[in-house]
Amino acid sequence: MNDVKLALLGSPGAGKSAVLVRFLTRRFIGEYASNANSLYHKRLSVDGRQLNLEVFDPCSQGSGARRVLEEPMDWADGFLVVYNISDRASFSNAKTLLRQIREARVEHCKGEVEVPVCLVGNKQDLCHARQVPADEGRCLAQENRCLFQEVSAAESYQDISILFTQLIRQVLEQLKQR
Ligand code: GDP
Ligand code: MG
Repeated sequence: MNDVKLALLGSPGAGKSAVLVRFLTRRFIGEYASNANSLYHKRLSVDGRQLNLEVFDPCSQGSGARRVLEEPMDWADGFLVVYNISDRASFSNAKTLLRQIREARVEHCKGEVEVPVCLVGNKQDLCHARQVPADEGRCLAQENRCLFQEVSAAESYQDISILFTQLIRQVLEQLKQR
């Protein structure tokens, strides 16, 4: 059985925990404890293949993201970089994170391995307060050769399920090549 390890990155409040909990439980609860790093486990099957999924959800305060980026190009097989479409600052932070992932990737893997990444524009339901056009997200993802999906953890399971599945597929492809 394959182990697939993903890490969530993004500004505090972007909705990392909400996106993850929606994927794992199909539910939106509303408030998520943010004072501790959490590691979630789930068994699932993708394309008929059984796997153990582990997802690292860093605490919102402080520098969880930095730590994830420092050790764990070794740890994580793939990353979800989450921003809030109604918060431009979170998009700028996502840009920085994508760059840091690319740099860490070059440092740790000498550029040989492309770590699968999905850029996630969350809170699509807040489109009346949108600060980041979907096209901008799409362009940033293209520049970084990563997946892109806008989602609403509050309103929909479907898109989140699709993006996790796509990312896991890419990770499984990579694990096969190692
Ligand atoms: P994190 O710090 O990135 O883990 O963010 P959280 O998952 O804790 O979410 C931060 C806040 O945004 C919480 O109040 C959530 O209820 C809210 N939130 C998360 N996702 C959505 C969404 O898709 N739409 C809306 N309207 N609110 C959301
Ligand atoms: Mg959180």
